[in-house]
Amino acid sequence: MASDRPKGARAKLRGFILANVGRVLESDELRAASGNTSEWARRVRELRTEEGYQILTNNDRSNLKPGQYLLIDPKPIPAFERGISKETRAFVLDRNGFTCQMCGAVAGEIHPFDPTRRTRLQIGHIIDKSMGGGDDPTNLRAICSVCNEGARNLTLDRPSLQKLLIQVRRATGGDQVEILRWLIQKFPKQTAEITAAK
Ligand SMILES: [Zn+2]
Repeated sequence: MASDRPKGARAKLRGFILANVGRVLESDELRAASGNTSEWARRVRELRTEEGYQILTNNDRSNLKPGQYLLIDPKPIPAFERGISKETRAFVLDRNGFTCQMCGAVAGEIHPFDPTRRTRLQIGHIIDKSMGGGDDPTNLRAICSVCNEGARNLTLDRPSLQKLLIQVRRATGGDQVEILRWLIQKFPKQTAEITAAK
C-alpha cells in the first residue's frame, strides 16, 4: 500500500519499544503502536536485523508466549556484530563464562572500572577483521562494551601468571582478600580440596 509508510511505522515501533524496555509487549500493542500497519511484524524484524535491537520472542526465551516481545537492553548490538549468528553469539558467551575476556567483568554486574554502568557483553574478534581475522567462533570472544570502546583495534594479551602474581602481591591486603573471596566463590570445589589437604 502506498499510504503504508514503512519508515514511519518502524520509527513509531522503535519509539514504543524503547519506551517499554523490560516489559513484555503483546502483538496487539505493537500493531497499534505501528499505526495499525499490517507490516508491523516485518518492521519489528527489521529493528532486530537491521538496527541490532535484541527484541526477544519465544524463540529466544521459553517464558515468552508466541506473539510476545521483550526488549531488555536499549542499546542495539553494534553493526560489526550483526553478521554473527545468534547461535554463535550464545556459544561464545557461554564458552567464555559470560565474562569479559579482557577485564574480567561479568555480564549484568556493575562494571569494575566504571561503576556507573552495568557490564554489557559484546562479541569481539581476537584477531581483528582489519588484520584478516574471521567470524568463526575460534576467533571470537566475549568482550565488554567498556573494553570494546577503548580497544577496538588493540589485541591485548592475557597477562602471564608471573605478571599477574606480581600485581596481586603489590595490591593492598584488603584487595588481596577481595581476590581471595572471589576465587573461593569461583572455585568452591578446589577451595575445599586445598583447605582439606592442610
Ligand atoms: Zn572488559
